[in-house]
Amino acid sequence: MNNINQMEMKQPHTREDYSALVRRHTERLFSLYGKTATAFIRTFGCQQNVSDSEKLAGMLSEMGYAMTDDPLSADVVLFNTCAVRENAEDRVFGNVGALKAAKEQNRDMIIALCGCMTQQPHIAEKLKTSYPYVDLIFGTHSIGRLPELLWKKISEGGRFVDISQEETCPREDLPVLRDGSVRAWVPVMYGCNNFCTYCVVPLVRGRERSRELSDIVREVEGLIQAGYKEIGLLGQNVNSYGKTLNPPVTFAQLLETLNALPGEFIIRFTTSHPKDCTHELIDTIARCEKVCKHIHLPVQSGSNRILKAMNRKYTAEQYLELIDYARAKIPNVAFTSDIIVGFPGETEEDFEATYRLIERVRYHSLFTFLYSKREGTKAAELPDDTPHSVKQARFDRMLALQRKIGMEHHENLVGHTVRVLAEGKGKTAPGRLTGKTEQGVIVEFDADESLIGSFVSVRVTQALLWAVVGTLETKSLI
Ligand code: SAH
Ligand code: SF4
Repeated sequence: MNNINQMEMKQPHTREDYSALVRRHTERLFSLYGKTATAFIRTFGCQQNVSDSEKLAGMLSEMGYAMTDDPLSADVVLFNTCAVRENAEDRVFGNVGALKAAKEQNRDMIIALCGCMTQQPHIAEKLKTSYPYVDLIFGTHSIGRLPELLWKKISEGGRFVDISQEETCPREDLPVLRDGSVRAWVPVMYGCNNFCTYCVVPLVRGRERSRELSDIVREVEGLIQAGYKEIGLLGQNVNSYGKTLNPPVTFAQLLETLNALPGEFIIRFTTSHPKDCTHELIDTIARCEKVCKHIHLPVQSGSNRILKAMNRKYTAEQYLELIDYARAKIPNVAFTSDIIVGFPGETEEDFEATYRLIERVRYHSLFTFLYSKREGTKAAELPDDTPHSVKQARFDRMLALQRKIGMEHHENLVGHTVRVLAEGKGKTAPGRLTGKTEQGVIVEFDADESLIGSFVSVRVTQALLWAVVGTLETKSLI
């Protein structure tokens, strides 16, 4: 009797046990039909979800599934969902609806939904009752249970739901199948304690948990050795990293430690909450040559009344003080931000304050959102009587302003030489590569694909709305 059969007879306990059982199943499929089992993952939402999907793909690959781009022919179709705004959820429902016909064609297809949307009990309930062809539903705390849920589905049939509120399987040792070979996402913390009144994230991702510094360092060292050139540190509020560790560590200390690792690479991070962005952190960014001179510092609104109603815990003046301090300490620092337009009770005057703040800061780019009411949040209980057309008009005005400012930043680069990490094939013309400057500006330039993953010098010749175009100078070493 071989090992796997012995394992089938004893009770499986660990992720690895379940993973081996599913792998045995996929190998059987291959030996019977000569067909490699395939899995399709679609990721909605933020980089944290992208990072979770890399772990889901790692587990699927360990179980013998090859990843495919075609959901219709896949044996496992997995949607990793986002709940931050209603339109993200609507897109998921639309995509799941479209799978019904595919499942009728292929009854063995396993459809699984996970992520922030499914973590909400009312959504899990809706999926259970109105989408009977969805086989597995699991939340953000249960991604490590994928092998177990998949094995139960394969061996017992039926449907399985796990939206536990607590982490049910450690994330630290999950296998990872990364999307690219140049940039790697590294979560430094999970969850959020801030309870901004509009935001569902603390409800679906749970309380803040920081990873141990040594675990992060080990992962980053491995990535550098594997040839990754950009390390993207992730957290909902990276500035409160390490507060709960014993002994506590600051995000500035984490940056210093990673910056000191040998190798040619750059470090980015997202997201910085202004209330926890300290001068110490800004000084550290200024000092650390591998840390990009780009701070994504979501302001959400320029009106103190609205900031208070949002529970952001800073004023527009405090925010601007940080911007001024960083500009004084970090030459050429770039800022980007998130803004919500149409928060309940936002008046024309509140919006004007946001507009003026954007004019004053002159962001390199902005992520702008129309307020979306989220069940279970405090803001969902506030009266919201501003007509949609008024909110949309404010949104459009803001977008026009940002386009003008963004274009001016790009025009200012024309004639200058910038250092760029070549990330992949460009979009503007065949034979072009794309990359980003330290400030996060997208640069497209003609170059051979062999330069992907290298730091190069590019002389900027043309400004576009969303990028700049340039010509390759010499290949620079760093
Ligand atoms: N942790 C990050 C943001 C995570 S959510 C931070 O605090 O900055 C990403 C962005 O989505 C937020 O910055 C906010 O601008 C937007 N957002 C969150 N909830 C929203 C809602 N209910 N309606 C509209 N936009 C929202
Ligand atoms: Fe949401 Fe605020 Fe937490 Fe960001 S800091 S995830 S906006 S609650």
